[in-house]
Amino acid sequence: MSIQQNIEHITSLIENAQTKFGRSQGSVQLLAVSKTKPVEAILAASQTGQTLFGENYVQEGVNKIHYFSENHPELSLEWHFIGPLQSNKTRPVAENFAWVHTIDRAKIAQRLSEQRPSGMAPLQVLIQVNTSGESSKSGINEAELFELAQLISTLPNLTLRGLMSIPENVTDYPSQLRAFKTLAALKDKLATTYPQVDTLSMGMTGDMEAAIEAGSTIVRIGTAIFGERDYTNKQ
Ligand SMILES: *Cc1c(COP(=O)(O)O)cnc(C)c1O
Repeated sequence: MSIQQNIEHITSLIENAQTKFGRSQGSVQLLAVSKTKPVEAILAASQTGQTLFGENYVQEGVNKIHYFSENHPELSLEWHFIGPLQSNKTRPVAENFAWVHTIDRAKIAQRLSEQRPSGMAPLQVLIQVNTSGESSKSGINEAELFELAQLISTLPNLTLRGLMSIPENVTDYPSQLRAFKTLAALKDKLATTYPQVDTLSMGMTGDMEAAIEAGSTIVRIGTAIFGERDYTNKQ
């Protein structure tokens, strides 16, 4: 299947899930995860009207952002950084991306706000939360979440929009749903203090339906759109 057909297929799965769970049409956005994929693949995806793209590696993402702003500004692509972020790599992220999904500590948030150019819209950020309680994955626990949200609310060049999670790899639907509902409840609690919080980045290929049932507003899909990734050139 072509990239366009894959996107159409996933879009129809999202639409069906929205209907099935009483979510309004258009309430769940598709983030096309294009890490390791060439600009030609992103261009093909954009032909379907896809505008949201997710990247995990800073330099690779920045190169693609520059390519599209120079060669295809008319596409108005929106770039989301979804990879782990080290503090020595925050500047190019602050200077180029529209969203960051993986804020998990104060230092990263402070640097991103300081380094965000004044002419750009505030960086839209999500706090990455670890709902499974597993220490192997990055992301903060629930207690630290509210402290970090409070800090972000004081930073002038960041807007806190919600939460993101990469749950442990559970395949049964009830367990997936439970983890996603935990995150959704945290987001609702956060939104009572921070009204601009309206986003839940959760759900990937194998758990998209449970994520949409639980209230996801952004699903992150890579392989099912672009095919398998080749990591041989990555360190
Ligand atoms: C790579 C990645 C995805 C997409 O994964 P696929 O299995 O290719 O769909 C989604 N979210 C994050 C955070 C990722 O790093």
